[in-house]
Amino acid sequence: MNENSQIARLAAQHQKPVALVTGAMRGIGRACAIALARSGFDLALNDLESEETSRLAAELAAEIAADGAESILVPGDVSNLENHAKLLQSVLERWGRLDCLLNNAGIPAQRRGDLLDVTAESFDRCMAVNTRAVFFLSQAVARYMVSANASSAMHRSIINITSSNARAVSIARGEYCVSKAASSMTTRLFAARLAAHGIGVYEVRPGIIATDMTKPAKSQYDAIIGAHLVPAERWGYPEDVASTIVCMAEGRLRYTVGQAVTVDGGLTMPRF
Ligand code: NAP
Repeated sequence: MNENSQIARLAAQHQKPVALVTGAMRGIGRACAIALARSGFDLALNDLESEETSRLAAELAAEIAADGAESILVPGDVSNLENHAKLLQSVLERWGRLDCLLNNAGIPAQRRGDLLDVTAESFDRCMAVNTRAVFFLSQAVARYMVSANASSAMHRSIINITSSNARAVSIARGEYCVSKAASSMTTRLFAARLAAHGIGVYEVRPGIIATDMTKPAKSQYDAIIGAHLVPAERWGYPEDVASTIVCMAEGRLRYTVGQAVTVDGGLTMPRF
């Protein structure tokens, strides 16, 4: 039996949708993996390869299994494009199908500070993880999804987690803003290319969400919320972002193409 017919056989046997979540061990990615499992997805969990990732993945797998979902760990740095084929192959060898890619893995600026001091190293790192990896992993998955091998009976989606900073200017982390604005364009490009295939491509822009990423700037964000700049008057939680992701992955944004949903309690809503 050749590789394609083996994948087709597995896909025919596996009637549950499958999602690949990058950066799934912490914060927003972890909450999204759990919410997708509860909504009926099996999960391929990606994160950087380490002993800590293996430990966290075992915990997450147990939590997901309690919701009746299967999971596999597919470790690897998404900014290394050579890992992408391996990630996709691992998912297809396990279940023969991939219905949802959640591009969640992301990094902050190396240091917050004056725009005039941004280093090329921090800029390139932000672009490598937040932009280049998102573009090329989307491309690899899109090639599979439009191929004859792909199973298309269920809703299929590619979802990119950008940031309020895809639009809102924060001059203390300019390179992060640039990297997320570029991924916003990546979303619309792939949305236009894949719409005729029935593949939904969406963007989610979280605001101030309580995760390890925002911990170092907690007092600054507490001050923003304390100053009533967030109409919802609270921090966002990873589960807030996950609820939007599930709507998108389940195909509940019908006849929408390339939409960005802002999950920020109103932080970036224009008002006067
Ligand atoms: P987080 O708590 O730092 O979690 C990010 C996860 O991604 C970590 O498990 C991290 O692994 C992993 N990761 C980082 N680089 C990776 C790579 N190259 N390959 C594979 N995995 C990688 O961050 P978060 O707050 O949940 O953020 C998730 C996404 O939301 C990011 O794209 C972020 O930019 C975006 N976002 C967050 C906020 C917020 O307020 N938290 C707001 C707007 C947008 P390690 O821990 O091992 O590094």
